[in-house]
Amino acid sequence: MSSLDREQGGRNAHRVVVIGGGFAGLQAVRKLRRAPVEVTLVDRRNFHLFQPLTYQVATGALSAGEIAYPLRAIFKRSPNVRVVMAEVADFDLEARELELRPVAGIPAPATIAYDTLIVAGGSQYSYFGHDDWREHAAEVKSLESALLVRTRILSAFEAAEGESDPERRAAWLTFVVVGAGPTGVEMAGQIAELGRDTLRREFSAIDPRGGRMLLVEAADRVLTTFPPSLSARATRSLEKLGVTVLVGKTVVGIDRESVTVDGGSAGPERVPSRTVIWAAGVTASGLAGRLAELTGAERDRAGRVTVEPDLTLPGHPEVFALGDMVRVRGADGTPVVFPGVAPVAMQQGRYAGRVVRARLRSRETKPFHYRDKGNLATIGRAAAVADIKGLKLSGFIAWLTWLLVHLFYLVGFQNRILVFIRWAFSFATHGRGARLIVGPGIEAPQFQRHRSE
Ligand SMILES: Cc1cc2nc3c(=O)[nH]c(=O)nc-3n(C[C@H](O)[C@H](O)[C@H](O)COP(=O)(O)OP(=O)(O)OC[C@H]3O[C@@H](n4cnc5c(N)ncnc54)[C@H](O)[C@@H]3O)c2cc1C
Repeated sequence: MSSLDREQGGRNAHRVVVIGGGFAGLQAVRKLRRAPVEVTLVDRRNFHLFQPLTYQVATGALSAGEIAYPLRAIFKRSPNVRVVMAEVADFDLEARELELRPVAGIPAPATIAYDTLIVAGGSQYSYFGHDDWREHAAEVKSLESALLVRTRILSAFEAAEGESDPERRAAWLTFVVVGAGPTGVEMAGQIAELGRDTLRREFSAIDPRGGRMLLVEAADRVLTTFPPSLSARATRSLEKLGVTVLVGKTVVGIDRESVTVDGGSAGPERVPSRTVIWAAGVTASGLAGRLAELTGAERDRAGRVTVEPDLTLPGHPEVFALGDMVRVRGADGTPVVFPGVAPVAMQQGRYAGRVVRARLRSRETKPFHYRDKGNLATIGRAAAVADIKGLKLSGFIAWLTWLLVHLFYLVGFQNRILVFIRWAFSFATHGRGARLIVGPGIEAPQFQRHRSE
């Protein structure tokens, strides 16, 4: 019996443990909250993060609390759901137990036993073997990193204002985004708008509109998961915002003061820049690799573990793996990689929850089937592209669709209202309400005390 079981007094209900309160894990738990099971949700964070909007935190458009929601609050009315804040360190699939390690010194049970395990650990950005680039080119996947990017972008404008040397000033005003998938395109568009609209009248020594915004992509077009016509429209919208789109170019070096881009026949070009944002390539959570080792399941180059058509691990029908960290074996035995997007993860989470419920009633279930509802990416104010079941939209209509879809899926009624108000306000005023330079490296001011104190 595990330490958590002992704490709970050893109940008889079927124990489902879900790892990860992201898009997949959250939906799995939601499907099970009225089922006759005891659910334990384990996450190393105490909140669900709406990753599709972290780039807005990174550019000061939204505050962190508006796109994150405490997991305990989500399940406060679900008596069969318990939330444990801890990191999963390992699995014992034979003993049907997880090993946990504490996060930030917060005590956690050493192990948790399960009857059914659902693993949804997501993915992380990969630096293609150049982990030293991470220090200089932050990404916007985690909230901490998004806040670091915000501090770096805003500090760059401040530094340019205080810099008298024209070359050094130009380097502060040069922003480079690596990777032109939806996140890269969104980041580039937002930084360009920040300089052109929001900050335009706020500095005296510099003109923030004069900054350079480069978007570098190794493929031959931006947004490669969209039809070419929409990629072309997105490129035009970016260029209208002043973004220089460099396709077919590979980043071969990043340091504190520059980015080196391989320009093909022209040879490598060193671009002085103090702010680089990484939005290229992801790799599956380390939990995928561990499950592959333990079960003999295949892994692909991006570290995804291959699960069976019902999303379980081979030889372990009691262990599901979902979301960004998996690819799924199709009916003909070939592994299928679904897009690394929230709808795939959410549908897989709901599917796993349904299978658990069906099994409890000894009912048969069908293999997982993904319903593709379309693809959306926003570029800037009233500019977006959408590919919805073959219907190609761009401009204001696509942007409105993007807006409504994101508001609909954002977790928490209060967050929806707050984000809606923020967006309406920003649209009317071109403003951004969360432009704070805070975080690591910024010291808290020391206030002088009065003598009488
Ligand atoms: C910047 C960015 C923008 C994006 N924009 C879009 C978009 O516009 N539209 C879209 O559809 N998709 C978008 N995506 C993709 C989408 O966010 C992912 O596909 C989705 O989050 C995958 O869900 P998941 O549940 O697999 O993983 P996640 O949502 O990442 O959840 C994983 C969870 O597992 C937890 N975890 C991981 N390892 C452990 C461990 N060892 N122990 C305990 N807990 C652990 C994490 O803390 C996290 O809460 C974006 C992604 C990023 C990074």
